[in-house]
Amino acid sequence: MTLRLFNTLTGQLDDLVPSDGKTLRMYACGPTIYDYGHIGNFRTFLQVDVLRRFLKLTGVAVHHVMNITDVDDKIIRNATAAGVPIGEYTARYEKAFFEDLDALGVERPEEIPHATEHIPQMVKLVQRLAAAGAAYQTEDGSWYFRLASFPEYGKLSKKDLSGMEDGARVDVDEYEKDSARDFALWKAAKPGETSWDTPIGRGRPGWHIECSTMAMEYLGESFDLHAGGEDLIFPHHENEIAQSESVTHKPFARHWMHVRFLLVDGRKMSKSQGNFYTLRDLLLKGFKASSIRLALISVPYRHQLNFTFEGLTEATSAIERLRTFKQRLTAGTFAPGANPALQEAAKKAQAEYLAALSNDLNTAEARAPIFDLLRAGNAAIDQGQLLADDRDAILAVLASFDAVFDVIEDRDAEITRRALDYAEQSGRLDDVSPELVASQSLTDEAIDALVAERTQAKKQRNFARADQIRNELAEKGVVIEDSKDGVHWKRK
Ligand code: AMP
Ligand code: ZN
Repeated sequence: MTLRLFNTLTGQLDDLVPSDGKTLRMYACGPTIYDYGHIGNFRTFLQVDVLRRFLKLTGVAVHHVMNITDVDDKIIRNATAAGVPIGEYTARYEKAFFEDLDALGVERPEEIPHATEHIPQMVKLVQRLAAAGAAYQTEDGSWYFRLASFPEYGKLSKKDLSGMEDGARVDVDEYEKDSARDFALWKAAKPGETSWDTPIGRGRPGWHIECSTMAMEYLGESFDLHAGGEDLIFPHHENEIAQSESVTHKPFARHWMHVRFLLVDGRKMSKSQGNFYTLRDLLLKGFKASSIRLALISVPYRHQLNFTFEGLTEATSAIERLRTFKQRLTAGTFAPGANPALQEAAKKAQAEYLAALSNDLNTAEARAPIFDLLRAGNAAIDQGQLLADDRDAILAVLASFDAVFDVIEDRDAEITRRALDYAEQSGRLDDVSPELVASQSLTDEAIDALVAERTQAKKQRNFARADQIRNELAEKGVVIEDSKDGVHWKRK
């Protein structure tokens, strides 16, 4: 099954296949580790995770590189303000970033290179650009890319850059969206700033040169796919193409994937608007990591996702239904044999699920057949028509759903506990929702003891006490479920 994926470069859906026939080589721009990641950042990382998981599910090996930007204008500014070296400043946010990726179930890329560990390679690339006439040095010792030397500039963003001023320069890492300028490859050292002594002078790399260098270092001069958020199309990715192709004269990446921005309550997320959320903010409000994952991936990557709390609540109940269904299948006892209608339903769900994902990773359409199967399965169990082979067939479909969506397997309690540790260590206990505090006030052992006491009370026909325990637990967010094979409980 071949994935048809929109390609920003060609403006159409193209087949995504490894050019070497073996391994798909892909690069996705990673985080700038100057603060905690927000849900917009994580939407992009999650959609790339959906891509890599789908490729693996369909038998395509991936070699995925994600850089860590550990030196840039913002990092230097913040580290200076905090009075610590940049490495000390970024270490904390890098650790937090990986904790957050783990919480959200984002798989680790095969390579995670740091910018500061690839300075010699970046310097070499600047030297090659200078030799090719595409880079020049200014009086202060900085190096710039000469846009006029690369006539194809603008081919990714399809911007008309005919009015661009030859020789106009920009040295900040991010610049206005509508003007093309010669951009900094290497910034001459300024007093007090982190810098490296190199053959092209003392200084530090520009942001764009980082990604060209590390992509080519790990994937070669030409590779299969480059991904990132839509804000990176221009100028970052346009600049990466210019820097790389000017020296290699080969297509840098054949396929470009861009994830649309996330809005919150219909507006751009911003601290001043009060609608800005890090992953940790949401965990402390009592939302589960699995719900956040599902909400962030359920809208296909090319559609704008309008993030709302209602959306999170919807995701929570969808996951609840999936988990309960799987629990019914694994805990129940079913007579041997197969029900042809259910066998057919499982086969159909699996085919529709894969077809939706192979159509430009349409996660919204991919969910639908899984829930159809869930309804059919639940109805069949209720009517005693689900047999052992049907259970196996349906569990296999759920496993393939979870290979990409990864929300049925329940790791939420542990992640919530870690978020509370973070709140305690960083003085944020006031931000923890009262419901979450209540649900954490009981240990698992205490709940087990109360559940056992309730079972005992019921045996002795002391229903008043049994109900009292059930209500007490419910108030603390613990739900008890009685089933044929015993009593189960879970935190809401
Ligand atoms: P940064 O750490 O700012 O370099 O961003 C890391 C990734 O998150 C990049 O791929 C960005 O394009 C992406 N990103 C930033 N803001 C948003 C947003 N609101 N929605 C989706 N992706 C975003
Ligand atoms: Zn990049």
